[in-house]
Amino acid sequence: MADTFPDALKALQEAFARDVPIRIAELRQTWEDPALGDETRLQTLHQLAHRLAGAAGTFGLGSLGEACRAFELKVQATGLEGGVLSGDLRQELGSELQRVEAAACMGAPLAPTSEAVSSGPRRPEVPDLFLLAPAGTSPEWVLHLGSFGFPTRVFSDRDQLAAALAEVRPPLAVVDDDAFPDHREGSLQTLQVPGEPPVPLILLSDWPDLPSRLQAVRAGARAYLPKPPDLLALVEAVEAHAHRGPAQPYTVLVVEDDPLQAAHHAAVLQGAGMRVEELHDPLGILQPLVDLRPDLVLMDLYMPGCTGVELAAAIRQQEAFVGIPIVFLSQERERNLQLEALRLGGDDFLVKPVDPGHLASIVATRAQRGRVLRSHMVRDSLTGLLNHSAILDRLGAELARAERSGASLAVAMLDLDHFKAVNDTHGHAAGDRVLRALSHMLQQRLRKTDLVGRYGGEEFAVVLPGATAEAAQRILDDIRQSFRELDFVFGGATIRCTFSAGVADFPAHREVERLVPAADEALYAAKREGRDRVKTSS
Ligand code: GH3
Ligand code: MG
Ligand code: MG
Ligand code: MG
Repeated sequence: MADTFPDALKALQEAFARDVPIRIAELRQTWEDPALGDETRLQTLHQLAHRLAGAAGTFGLGSLGEACRAFELKVQATGLEGGVLSGDLRQELGSELQRVEAAACMGAPLAPTSEAVSSGPRRPEVPDLFLLAPAGTSPEWVLHLGSFGFPTRVFSDRDQLAAALAEVRPPLAVVDDDAFPDHREGSLQTLQVPGEPPVPLILLSDWPDLPSRLQAVRAGARAYLPKPPDLLALVEAVEAHAHRGPAQPYTVLVVEDDPLQAAHHAAVLQGAGMRVEELHDPLGILQPLVDLRPDLVLMDLYMPGCTGVELAAAIRQQEAFVGIPIVFLSQERERNLQLEALRLGGDDFLVKPVDPGHLASIVATRAQRGRVLRSHMVRDSLTGLLNHSAILDRLGAELARAERSGASLAVAMLDLDHFKAVNDTHGHAAGDRVLRALSHMLQQRLRKTDLVGRYGGEEFAVVLPGATAEAAQRILDDIRQSFRELDFVFGGATIRCTFSAGVADFPAHREVERLVPAADEALYAAKREGRDRVKTSS
């Protein structure tokens, strides 16, 4: 199989071109077969013509597509008298079929329109910040940015920073702590940040006035924070504005009974950086929905066994699949039927033939929106972490995977120490900030494959696939030591917070129902022994 997208499309087009004479012969044979009753004949002709019309459009044979479509409509509209085709109708259909045959002999496929397909956004491997600090200073809070998992390179010279920006892989953001070097209102010095879109610029300033802020906006600043910055605010500004591609490419399940058309759609979507699985038998859809957890289902409307609309409705009846976007791709141009398909569970309707760039862009947009909607169902709103049931769900899946592969897996339960006192003394909003700071630190410091959940009020659960309890204990102890160093400033008072944690692992504990309580017991042992420590389950 060809390995680049335009090559793959071309190979499919050629395969289809070779297939056309066979498909035309099938039509002719069905038309003439004396052994067939007329009712069966019309049904078979309808199916064959429908499929050929869709494929012809998809592979750029527009006039063949149109002729097939006209033939298909004619077949559909043809009634039988006592189960038999009348002579007049036979003649009309016969000449319509000849038009199909003539169209099939005309012209080679058009060139594929692949330029419009874009590749997915690039993703930086290592989070990184550039900081421009006033000459001779090195703000101590920079160290804490490192604890949050943002290693930071400090510059004291505007030109050096600009030169570094031009040379190396762009950082997640540029923080300018020296934007007003003259220490006067309105004396902003701008910094040119390259890139398309540009690397986000975050300004730290002593000037809260509107003219200074407007200057900053015009200079391209994405955030404007007072000096010295509140660390959580700075971390959240970086998180909010950093350009990170989707963590994983979108996964699409293509349900289409015609293997050639399915391969075509797959090639288009793969060319746009998506993962695609094809399904040619619609009745086999449940397993791939479970195994693949697709971000979107692209579905043909007319298939043997069941229609796409029936299938969508059946999928939607299952709670677990309510959130999966379904996009129909069909030659159905009847607006009412399209609307009916959408009413019964589809999210969009594309009419074949569809431009490859258009197909990739609609699928990407829908898949992205689907991810956002599903994230509201599984994420905690204060911290953005997986919620209680989602982290347990994911733990179950990871445990099954560990069971299959024989790898180890560790679970840690964390709980903030004497947290009630923080709320009681400094207010609930202050408590919320501590919760958010810890969740940012956990997310940044752990690996991308680790899972972090908010298990309850001030209790967190972490799943570390591949780790033993000892390894997880070391990792969490590192984070514990960074976290206890953070200063939180609440209305003039500076406080520090600590947490305790307990760790247990697989295969010592083989089920979710044993693993979580074992980690919990270790957590309570850590509390009993004085808090601010990480214990493994004995
Ligand atoms: P320990 O070290 O034994 O865990 O003591 P603690 O004070 O942390 O434990 P306790 O269970 O007595 O209190 C937990 C506190 O966590 C009480 C509750 O107000 C607070 N809390 C739970 N959820 C939230 C939240 O979403 N926001 C805020 N600000 N506080 C919360
Ligand atoms: Mg079909
Ligand atoms: Mg607590
Ligand atoms: Mg608690």
